[in-house]
Amino acid sequence: MKKTRNSNRNYNNKKRGHKPSSKKETIEANCIDYDSEGKGIISYNNQQIPIPNLLKGETAKIEIIKKGKFITGKILKVIKPSAKRIKAKCKHYEKCGGCQLQHISYEDQAQLKQSLVERLMKPFGKANPIIKMDNPYDYRNKIHATYSYKNKEIVSGFYEEQSHRVIPVERCLIQSSKSDEINKTIRELMKSFKLKAYDEERDTGLIRHVLVKVGFATKEVMVVLVTIGPMFPSKNNFIKALRKKHPEITTIIQNINSKRTSMVLGNREKVIYGKGTIKDTLCGYTFNISSKSFYQVNPTQTEKLYGKAIEMANFKGNEVVMDAYSGIGTIGIILSEKVKSVIGVELNKDAVKDSIKNAKLNKVQNARFYEGDAGEFMLHMKEEGQKLDVVVMDPPRSGSDERFLSSLVKISPKKVIYISCNPITQSRDIKFLIKHGYKVKEIQPVDMFPHTAHVECVVLMSRVDK
Ligand code: SAH
Repeated sequence: MKKTRNSNRNYNNKKRGHKPSSKKETIEANCIDYDSEGKGIISYNNQQIPIPNLLKGETAKIEIIKKGKFITGKILKVIKPSAKRIKAKCKHYEKCGGCQLQHISYEDQAQLKQSLVERLMKPFGKANPIIKMDNPYDYRNKIHATYSYKNKEIVSGFYEEQSHRVIPVERCLIQSSKSDEINKTIRELMKSFKLKAYDEERDTGLIRHVLVKVGFATKEVMVVLVTIGPMFPSKNNFIKALRKKHPEITTIIQNINSKRTSMVLGNREKVIYGKGTIKDTLCGYTFNISSKSFYQVNPTQTEKLYGKAIEMANFKGNEVVMDAYSGIGTIGIILSEKVKSVIGVELNKDAVKDSIKNAKLNKVQNARFYEGDAGEFMLHMKEEGQKLDVVVMDPPRSGSDERFLSSLVKISPKKVIYISCNPITQSRDIKFLIKHGYKVKEIQPVDMFPHTAHVECVVLMSRVDK
């Protein structure tokens, strides 16, 4: 998961007090198909409207909501349910926007994702069966909870979909249970230390969010306490008490976010316990993780994804490889032992610093990481007469841009391995590459985010030599 897909939740950034006028209407409709995000499509006034949680073949009473030109809808009642419909395991599912597919079995989720990918990739070839997760629960290693009040009690949880109301959540089934335990302790400690949760309406209080990051392999735990200002009454005793209950916490950070914003983290940070980073291992390599750096949220499936990408590349050992959109350098570092050299390019300065440190940490000598726009970087390489044998690209959800793709075509590596968390933009970019001399050799969907509608896909392309 990447910066733009850090969380599957929808933090609506509407200006308070300003509600666009909306018209509502109730209809009965049949679901005719799925859209590319797995929502059920109904036909309304000859328009196709995607409805969350609606299954193909179902008839439901639907509330149609019109805001200007936008038409959305939600299920009021399923009148004729599909045989596939099951009761969601999570009791918050109906309100929380974090998961979108808990109303069908994991097997059916996998099939749905498979058909979404197949539909998008159909012009390019057949997709392999999706790589599922053996135990599709407790997989997220990065967990964010928002603090608020309900009936005057401190609660922590997630924003209700499309709103700023916090749903109190004791247990989220897709996240490491460690974070639920830590949040429970924090709520109790706040009460005994008389520390206040943030009150969004009044803009008062102290703790806004808590971010927990868990190194699944190393068991190291980072806690980030996001506060409204730099003050933190009884800080040392609070840390002591938290650590006493959870000795597994290896570092605690105070992040200051005074802005009225839906962004979780502010710019200022103080390490208040430990080193300020944790480590985790992926495919046998160790990575340093800081509060802000992007790190894949499902390490179990990431190992399968990277394993598949490396298998597709079928490296011989003499290749010069570009890790484009390299983040903290995970992909480039992991494949470095299989190739001659790796060049990583990443826009985010902090991530580049992390990737350089990570290469050192793993004693990797044949990987260099650079800050810059990956497309521009390749163009410079081409102008200087440098060559690339393989490009592994892993862009954000928005996909790549034409500047990148046209530079790629110019430097013309033999193989391109395109990893994406958004097969819609991925298929768009693949079309461009096919037009400019590449062909698709293999398509592999991977379920990195069980119970959500997201699907990851890795595609191997090769240059067509005339
Ligand atoms: N490959 C990494 C990170 C992928 S996330 C991993 O799997 O961990 C996508 C990354 O692309 C982000 O770190 C983002 O900062 C970076 N990025 C976005 N636009 C870019 C551009 N034009 N050039 C280089 N990097 C870019």
